Amino acid sequence: MKAIIFGAPGAGKGTYSTRMQNQLGVDVIAMGDIFRESVKQSTPLGKKVKSYVEKGALVPDDVVGEVLKERLAKVPKDKGFLLDGFPRTIEQADTLEKIAKIDVILQLDVPDEIIIQRLTSRRLCKNCGTVYNIRFLKPKKEGVCDKCGGELYQRADDNEEVIKNRLQVYKTQTEPLIAYYKKKKVPFIVSTTKSIDSPPEPMVEAMLSELKKLKLA
Ligand code: ADP
Ligand code: ZN
Repeated sequence: MKAIIFGAPGAGKGTYSTRMQNQLGVDVIAMGDIFRESVKQSTPLGKKVKSYVEKGALVPDDVVGEVLKERLAKVPKDKGFLLDGFPRTIEQADTLEKIAKIDVILQLDVPDEIIIQRLTSRRLCKNCGTVYNIRFLKPKKEGVCDKCGGELYQRADDNEEVIKNRLQVYKTQTEPLIAYYKKKKVPFIVSTTKSIDSPPEPMVEAMLSELKKLKLA
C-alpha cells in the first residue's frame, strides 16, 4: 500500500499512523520527524531547515523533495509506505507523482477549535514518538511513555503563535491538495473527529476496515 495521511497540524496524523504502522506493515515516513531529528543532530539538513520549522513555515519544496526521494529509496521493495506531512504543496504532489502512484488518501477532518486545544496540550515521547495529550489522551504515569518508558516532551512549535501560523499555511498551501487528488480520482477514506476527547482507537479500527474493503489491508 502506498498511502498519504492527510490533515491539518494536530489533526492526528502522527497518532494514527504510529497506531496503524504495525497492522499495515508499512514504513511510516513522517517529514516533520525527519526535520526535527536533523535539527537536533545539527546535520547539514538540520541547519538548512531549522529557521522554517521554528516559525512553522514550509521548508522549500526542493529541499523537501530531495529528503523524500532519499527516504523512499530506503523502503524495502516488498513493503508499502504511509506518508505523514508530505505532500504539503501542489509542487510537492507533482514531485511525488513522478516517483510513486498513491493508492489511497486517509483524510483526517477535525474542526479548528479542537485542533488548537489539542496542539497546546500535546506531548510526545522522546524515544519512540508516541503522541499523548495532557488533557485528553493522558499517559498512565505523568511525563512517561506508556509504551517504552521514555520521557515526554512538548514540541517547540506547539505554542500559540506558531500554531496559528501552521494552520494558516495549511489552509492556503496544503488544503488545495484535497481537490488535486479528487481530480485525479485517488480514493479517500475520511475520518471525522467530532469531539475533543474521542479516543483514537475506534477511528483507527474504522479506517483499517475501510482499507480492507479497498483490499489495501
Ligand atoms: P504538523 O503538526 O504541523 O503537521 P509536522 O511535524 O508534520 O507538523 O511538521 C513540522 C514542521 O516541519 C512544519 O511546520 C514545517 O516547517 C516542516 N515540514 C514538515 N513537512 C513539510 C513539508 N512537506 N514541506 C515543507 N515543510 C515541511
Ligand atoms: Zn515511547
